[in-house]
Amino acid sequence: MHLPEKFKEKYEKLLGSEAQAFLQTFDQPAVSGFRVNPLKQVQQKFANPIANMPWSYYGKISGKSLAHATGLVYSQEPAAQVVAQIAKAESGMRVLDLAAAPGGKSTHLLSYMNNQGILVSNEISRKRSKILVENMERFGARNALVTNETPERLANVFPAYFDLIVLDAPCSGEGMFRKDPEAMQYWSETYPTECARLQREILVEALKMLKAGGSLIYSTCTWAPEENEEVVKWLLKEYPYLELIPIAKFNGMQAGIDQPETARIYPHHFQGEGQFIAKLKDTRPSEKSVKIRSGKTNLSREQLSYWQDFAGKHLTISLSGLFQVFGDQLYLLPEGLPDLAKVKIARNGLHLGTFKTKRFEPSFALGMALKSDEVKKSIALDDEQALQYLSGHTISLTIDRPNGWYQVLAQGNGLGFAKWVNGTLKNYYPKGLRLK
Ligand code: SAM
Repeated sequence: MHLPEKFKEKYEKLLGSEAQAFLQTFDQPAVSGFRVNPLKQVQQKFANPIANMPWSYYGKISGKSLAHATGLVYSQEPAAQVVAQIAKAESGMRVLDLAAAPGGKSTHLLSYMNNQGILVSNEISRKRSKILVENMERFGARNALVTNETPERLANVFPAYFDLIVLDAPCSGEGMFRKDPEAMQYWSETYPTECARLQREILVEALKMLKAGGSLIYSTCTWAPEENEEVVKWLLKEYPYLELIPIAKFNGMQAGIDQPETARIYPHHFQGEGQFIAKLKDTRPSEKSVKIRSGKTNLSREQLSYWQDFAGKHLTISLSGLFQVFGDQLYLLPEGLPDLAKVKIARNGLHLGTFKTKRFEPSFALGMALKSDEVKKSIALDDEQALQYLSGHTISLTIDRPNGWYQVLAQGNGLGFAKWVNGTLKNYYPKGLRLK
């Protein structure tokens, strides 16, 4: 791989005797990995688990596989998987992923939250926020909303609100060179310094949203000290109440430069790409979460009865949270959110479905989020039928079932809801997601 000369010189100086080993890794292929989703039914065994990382495996998963389509797995290279593992979100926490698309860290955070608490996944780019929504939906996110905001505007709405904030910052992307050589085009000697300026700006906004006593995870996928240890040093100076929490190293993770609490991931030590991670704690006495005057449900009585009718007939659990209607669309938001009127929203919590004349139709997202034992009526497809379904075909089956809505199952996990009509399963798989 042809690396920029200045890049090579920089790391020859910085890494000394290790530089050759480091630079040689650029002639080897990038390492692929994936995580298994604990919110789904796991029926198959995967090979090549990664030590010390729950849910993590080496290897590639096809975007056309059932494991991918059902949200059972999320592809993410191994080094990037360390970030949310260190963040260790907990059930019931208020969590912000401030730069979240395409969703690697957000879906991983959800894996720790057990559908409890609130995850706000924010992405500044509208286009990327759509991909984020898709990935969150496939993963089966319930207690999560996706916003499409600048950090500044978000900070106005969520002051001192979050227990945990992850900033996986936009960076010079040196750690992505192997995986995505185009990332090299943007690189110049001064690029890390430019990125650091943006990172500090974003951090100022992030810290407005952190609750006293909360934690901040700062990560980048670059090795540039300007964007890593230097930014952390700046944080500690500007915010004296922040303290570095030591990150335990495993699988070849290294300490930060003159900053043993932080972690660096290099491909010549760790089987993965590049990453830097710092964990900081706000040492001010923790406050009780500010009681938010939560929004009220705006369902009409009639709408409520249509939803209840559907839920009673189809679900074995009762979904709780804040039910809100926008137009004819019904959403379920986690409790305890502030007023979101001024926030650009890409995913307003869990989309439950649509009110049609005198009835309720379940959404795709709901059929992805519910586990099979949370649904009363389902139709299980074998792998071949499921792939046909993903390609947009209707499926004829010789089973005797009353007409109506069923959760479509493949390998034990939902592919949304579909209507069974006189011996045929109609295709409700979203057109934009279909296999070509
Ligand atoms: N956390 C993501 C994941 O694990 O899938 C990857 C995030 S990527 C490293 C950084 C993100 O920051 C990009 O999606 C980019 O659009 C976003 N970004 C760029 N400029 C930004 C800014 N000024 N404020 C906030 N986010 C920004």
